[in-house]
Amino acid sequence: MESTHVQRRDVIGALAVSGLASLALAAQPQEFIPAGKKPDGPCPPPEALGWDAVKGDYVLPALPYAANALEPYIDAKTMEVHHGKHHAAYVAGANKAVTELFRIREGGDAGLVKHWSRELSFHLGGHVNHCLFWRMMAPAGKGGGGQPDGLLAAAITRDFGSYEKFLAHFKAAAVQVEGGGWSWLVYDPHSTRLLIVQQEKQQDMMPTGMRPLLGLDVWEHAYYLKYQNQRSSYVDAWFNVVNWPFVQCLFDTYTRK
Ligand code: MN
Repeated sequence: MESTHVQRRDVIGALAVSGLASLALAAQPQEFIPAGKKPDGPCPPPEALGWDAVKGDYVLPALPYAANALEPYIDAKTMEVHHGKHHAAYVAGANKAVTELFRIREGGDAGLVKHWSRELSFHLGGHVNHCLFWRMMAPAGKGGGGQPDGLLAAAITRDFGSYEKFLAHFKAAAVQVEGGGWSWLVYDPHSTRLLIVQQEKQQDMMPTGMRPLLGLDVWEHAYYLKYQNQRSSYVDAWFNVVNWPFVQCLFDTYTRK
């Protein structure tokens, strides 16, 4: 174990020395704030999740709560399969795509760049989305549910008119995703305002540079066991487990001066 720690320190130290301070921060295994706890300071970047700097691989992070902790809104079986099978497959797929693109650079078939690039986009999109998704939820009444407050609430009112108008827009975007995809509340650093965007599959239709605040997975694998074809019922129920303190933490990270 000690050698692993030493290696990790060396890697982080080397990144810091090379001037890549943000990468050094991202390389540290950090936990986001626990469910229900207000952030004391800025959040570590979302990129800190799901990456092992020693292995140089994407890795599946543990769920930050028990698989049954989001019941009755999200059932334990769905959480187990979603995290342990679907997310794990995205992790494997992203690592595989990176490896295959490396092999192409080392003399492989350059005609396969398009194929493996598409694989990378899909699987890495899935990995990043789900790393965030698990943290964007918390058990109801223990960090999950309620409404945003503070500067995030003020920004929502400023950019959508009211929390209720944001909610209606976000839910409609989620319900209307065609096939598998996501609804996202994002921070647009160009305009410094909040936007709601749809995402098809794990990666399509997201404008470049948007910073994720809140994402809802509306792939059938996220809800079908409990809600079958009633996606709108799942979307309504999901807001009982939204981890607004975490969303606030991300917002503070993106907007702090
Ligand atoms: Mn999913």
